[in-house]
Amino acid sequence: MNSLVSSQQPNLECVESMIHVWERIPWETLPPSAKVDLGLWIFRFKPSIRIIPLIGDLKDTHDTFKALFPNVGLTIHKDSLYMSLDKTLCLLVKTLDWLSSPHGEKLGTLLGYPPCCSKHISQFPEAMIDSISALQNKAISGFRPHILDTSEYSEGICLVSHVPCSIYCSASSILARTFLKKVCSTKGGSQFQSWKTSMLKKYGDLLE
Ligand SMILES: [Zn+2]
Repeated sequence: MNSLVSSQQPNLECVESMIHVWERIPWETLPPSAKVDLGLWIFRFKPSIRIIPLIGDLKDTHDTFKALFPNVGLTIHKDSLYMSLDKTLCLLVKTLDWLSSPHGEKLGTLLGYPPCCSKHISQFPEAMIDSISALQNKAISGFRPHILDTSEYSEGICLVSHVPCSIYCSASSILARTFLKKVCSTKGGSQFQSWKTSMLKKYGDLLE
């Protein structure tokens, strides 16, 4: 934590330092799901993230994130903001995202989705993804809490940022459970604590 005292810049190698920045992220301009994406990114479960801000000028959002995370890869294109710890990776993700040729499987992997899930979902047109997710959540409705319950992703309460290849996907379940433990064991500031409380309310019974 000494790095925080000497500088306002987060130490990219230190999750506690990165979580400290959570308190200064302009959440009001972002969709609630950005908490899941940024949480997974900060805890190193996602190499890259793509966020479409809700309001405000995208360039302003870019500049705000640049000030918060000065040494990461950060770029914008059209309506989207891309961020990676690695600058080259960030540009690759942006390029892939706007390719007209099929790219879903590769892009999914760069966004931290397990290979089985990236491969599975890339077989479907993008317009079908929400209904696939809805069907999965319907299937687990009688078994909640469920580690792969993604029904509240859009509200920012979820342990993965992708549609699992199945509700039994072991790679997704391991990712989700490990993320839950990391969130639970991290203190953070009041904003992080508030999100953590919501996450534990939903998934806390799944902690061993
Ligand atoms: Zn999978």
